[in-house]
Amino acid sequence: MADLDQIIDLLRHRGHSQYGGEAVTQVEHALQAAALAEEERASAELIVAALLHDVGHLLHELPNDAPDAGIDDHHENSAGNYLRSLFPETVTEPIRLHVAAKRYLCAIDAGYRGTLSQPSLVSLGLQGGEMTPAEVTEFRKNSYASDAVRLRRWDDAAKVPNHPTPSLSHFAAYARQVCLQQSPA
Ligand code: FE
Repeated sequence: MADLDQIIDLLRHRGHSQYGGEAVTQVEHALQAAALAEEERASAELIVAALLHDVGHLLHELPNDAPDAGIDDHHENSAGNYLRSLFPETVTEPIRLHVAAKRYLCAIDAGYRGTLSQPSLVSLGLQGGEMTPAEVTEFRKNSYASDAVRLRRWDDAAKVPNHPTPSLSHFAAYARQVCLQQSPA
């Protein structure tokens, strides 16, 4: 079972791989997403969700360009399962839904698809493309849908090369605050 230090170490030590075909590394992407959440004064839980939303990409040995080979790593589910014993649903459900939120936004926001990066468009195809009207209705019923959409917007914007952010330790403090398994003082 994962503990919080292992998760932070995963980002610290494995996070220097490129984020898919994007111009930032995994850890830069995670820090930028968390910084955007913090700038919007999101809850501590949602800041942690932003920080850890892509940890599923670090849990396997697939190459960064796996989507180009037609492989979907289902990272939203692996991250959700990996984090479930440590964090409340307010953290894990927006993470689990952040891919669905992209499919949702493609269906309801005419300009959204045009804002996606090329790698994100490639993965969209593997993830099922835009939602059908029935899927949109179903998605909106989920009580974490709006948090997932907020997370998605930060995710999409967190791809700026050499963009300064607070450190991993800064955001790890939020993770410690909302973690379900508090270590003894
Ligand atoms: Fe992401």
